[in-house]
Amino acid sequence: MSIKDNLLKIKSSLPEHVTLVAVSKTKPVSDLMEAYNAGHRIFGENKIQEMTEKWEQMPKDIQWQMIGHIQTNKVKFMAPYVSLIHGVDSMKLLEEINKQALKNNRIIDCLLQIHIAEEETKFGLNEDELKELLASESFKNLNNIKIIGLMGMATFTENQIQIKKEFEHLKSIFDSYQNLKSEICNLKSLSMGMSGDYKLAIACGSTMVRIGSSIFGGR
Ligand SMILES: *Cc1c(COP(=O)(O)O)cnc(C)c1O
Repeated sequence: MSIKDNLLKIKSSLPEHVTLVAVSKTKPVSDLMEAYNAGHRIFGENKIQEMTEKWEQMPKDIQWQMIGHIQTNKVKFMAPYVSLIHGVDSMKLLEEINKQALKNNRIIDCLLQIHIAEEETKFGLNEDELKELLASESFKNLNNIKIIGLMGMATFTENQIQIKKEFEHLKSIFDSYQNLKSEICNLKSLSMGMSGDYKLAIACGSTMVRIGSSIFGGR
């Protein structure tokens, strides 16, 4: 099947409240243009330099979302255009995003990444760190960012029961902060689910799925 066929098939299978982020990392601009020409406008990349090169070359009505781990010193390169940053997992990073957003006279939407997987290698905040961050005084002064949701990645395993447990855990954290609403924090989006587990993620409450290989083929 073509990229267009894959994309349209997945899109038509998603409930209306679920946003599709087409994960185009490592793929050439010609592949992304195939998805663009099929009507898609939301792309996810995991390297700032690669995303910036693609942003420069492609039509300007695309929403570019950063889904990978971010080095603080590279935030400035995406600050002029990035539409959503999924993997925010420290106050230091949030402060840098705020600083660069201010320089660009923008408010940048962010998701806080929560560590739900078993592996130590996956990035993200634990529940205590999340609580501490949201309650901290310095957080309240970040007027150029907006936390619009949470993001998480399940353990890389075939065990559906474990994956389900991890997604449900993230959903329960998400639900527990629904009363916390301020100018800079209002958790509406829950980014969880990739090619292998997005159906399960949606069943567990995901509102945003990040799908790469099922659209563009293997990497
Ligand atoms: C690569 C990546 C995806 C997409 O993975 P696929 O299995 O190709 O769908 C989703 N989320 C993150 C954070 C990624 O790095």
